[in-house]
Amino acid sequence: MTEAIKAFNESSTQLLPEIREDLKAYLQYMKGLGYQGVVLSENSVRILERWNKGGLAETLDTIQVDLGACQRCKLHKGRKHIVFGAGNPRAKLTFVGEGPGYEEDIQGEPFVGKAGQLLTRILRAIGLTREDVYICNIIKCRPPGNRNPEPDEIAACIPFLRRQLRAIGPGLICALGTFAAQTLLATKTPISRLRGNFYTYEGIRILPTYHPAFLLRNPAKKADVWEDMQKLQEAYEKS
Ligand code: URA
Repeated sequence: MTEAIKAFNESSTQLLPEIREDLKAYLQYMKGLGYQGVVLSENSVRILERWNKGGLAETLDTIQVDLGACQRCKLHKGRKHIVFGAGNPRAKLTFVGEGPGYEEDIQGEPFVGKAGQLLTRILRAIGLTREDVYICNIIKCRPPGNRNPEPDEIAACIPFLRRQLRAIGPGLICALGTFAAQTLLATKTPISRLRGNFYTYEGIRILPTYHPAFLLRNPAKKADVWEDMQKLQEAYEKS
């Protein structure tokens, strides 16, 4: 009982203060009646332990539960699957693309089509696997005919990406292509100028590079991406 009260006191600062005070008063009342403890589910015990380790950090699972069968924008009407993201939930490096294409929509996984296979090869070239990193997109549902995402769709979706990035806590982000780079950096600067330079997004170092789908159409740009990947690898190894 004392431990439960201590947990409320010490670290539940993000609970609504009123609820916290009510719960605390109730636990104290129970203690006064002679109760020695409270019966909690394993999940509740885990949550209390997390509070004690420093706050109510969200997990990717809780964010995905909150996202649910999302209907926050019109893209839900044509999608087959929400593409939430995949990879290491504690990744030091996160790749952010634009949005799911045809294959991703069918499989519910990011970057699994031709561009995704190229991304897997790019990762391998810098000594990483898809399981080492986290891969996600600016939007989670495929726009019809792969058109560019619209502002209302981005506005509905990006809070989830922001929460995912906070939950993962990567030291580095690689923005894949114009759309991801311009959206995260809130700029209209062309990708040809952004690529290869480090910027900051919410305190995280971010390196834009060309999108693998662009590379499939413009193989001559692979040399630029190789240059960018060497910078990324160096930053990754130092992080
Ligand atoms: N292109 C993207 O931007 N994201 C994917 O997941 C697949 C292709």
